[in-house]
Amino acid sequence: MIRWGMVLIAALLMAAPAQADDRVRVVASFSILGDFVRNVGADRVEVSTLVGPNGDAHVYTPSPADAKTIADARLVVVNGLGLEGWLPRLVQSSGGKATIVTATKGIKVREADADDDHGHGGGDHAHDHGKTDPHAWQSVPNAKIYVANIRDALIAADPAGAATYRANAEAYLAKLDALDRDVRAAVASIPAPRRKVISTHEAFGYFADAYGIAFIAPQGVSTESEASARDVASIITQIRKDKVPAVFLENISDPRLMQRISAETGAKIGGTLYSDSLTPENGDAPTYIDMVRHNIKTLTGALSS
Ligand SMILES: [Zn+2]
Repeated sequence: MIRWGMVLIAALLMAAPAQADDRVRVVASFSILGDFVRNVGADRVEVSTLVGPNGDAHVYTPSPADAKTIADARLVVVNGLGLEGWLPRLVQSSGGKATIVTATKGIKVREADADDDHGHGGGDHAHDHGKTDPHAWQSVPNAKIYVANIRDALIAADPAGAATYRANAEAYLAKLDALDRDVRAAVASIPAPRRKVISTHEAFGYFADAYGIAFIAPQGVSTESEASARDVASIITQIRKDKVPAVFLENISDPRLMQRISAETGAKIGGTLYSDSLTPENGDAPTYIDMVRHNIKTLTGALSS
């Protein structure tokens, strides 16, 4: 008995590393992409995420360990559309041979809001007009394109897993379809005149276009530049004029600006929205689906009454 037990343990010890080596090493630039890769790749992939939970992918500073992670990867999944400005240099310096997968390939790109007066008057304020909006994942139909791109890239990198990747993607895409229906039903429950909110940075443009809630933000499509006094004053005027019911905090942004705007206008703080990052496992949004469900619950909670 003891002997057989030892043989079994030896077999397990030998099997475990071999299995780990077989897995496709995938690096995702930020947490939301990491979640998509995990859903499609499941146990055939080993996913590392560079910008982790509650991190800000706009302004990330890569570490030497990140270069090593990329050097060992088969695939590097990125959002593109200008989100990860720090990534090309990191990939180059890593010296690796990973295939870069742009998850937004095929998405109808949204430009930053151009009908506001943010940034006029020069100074050191970065101008967002004509800038590409990278936050395409905030529309669930777009998330389905991300997932299809990731599925195709995994099949190309690991053809032996094709059937698994197709089945996993199909199951996950069905969940995203259900999620999309739920978001539409939730928005429909909000009285039309109340479908307008303030968020910290312009992260919900694709969500707004897909679902019909208007978002206004003092900060542009990147968190790199701070909101100017002029931007904040213009938002305050707009909240009063349009009777915007609520302002929202973001998990990746300093809450003080929104607290100030709320205090000056009387618009209530409706809660925290997850824009560019998931939370750790014990938070409100450890997965993309949790994130969208949390956001829509927060929005309807603040706007319905
Ligand atoms: Zn953002």
